[in-house]
Amino acid sequence: MSRESERVASEVQRSVLADTLDLAVPLAMAELWDCPDKALAAIAREAASIVGSRGDVLLFGGQHCASTFNQLARGLAAMALVAPGGATYLGRHWCCMPGCSGSAADHPQPGEGSRTVTDFPLPVTSADGEVAA
Ligand SMILES: [Zn+2]
Repeated sequence: MSRESERVASEVQRSVLADTLDLAVPLAMAELWDCPDKALAAIAREAASIVGSRGDVLLFGGQHCASTFNQLARGLAAMALVAPGGATYLGRHWCCMPGCSGSAADHPQPGEGSRTVTDFPLPVTSADGEVAA
């Protein structure tokens, strides 16, 4: 396979993945719409871990390709619902702001939107580096 045909094949794979996510992410958002924010954050974290460890099957295929794709779509949907600026991937953007023009749009900040956003506090460390419980 020449470099040009490899580049074209890669672009086609990327386009198919993005187009398929355009269908799957809104469906997953509808499914997750009533989930509490903490559950959405947990779903997004779990999906990031799974996609991070198996992301190569999305490019090259394999035993867990479908389940990894589903985790990617579900994770993006959870992030789109819980993150104030939504989720953007492969040039596509999903969020819960009706009529959103994209990731650069003026998204509601925590406390302004119809969905509440949970802020996860960072651990407090003392001057000697001890982490408070
Ligand atoms: Zn948006």
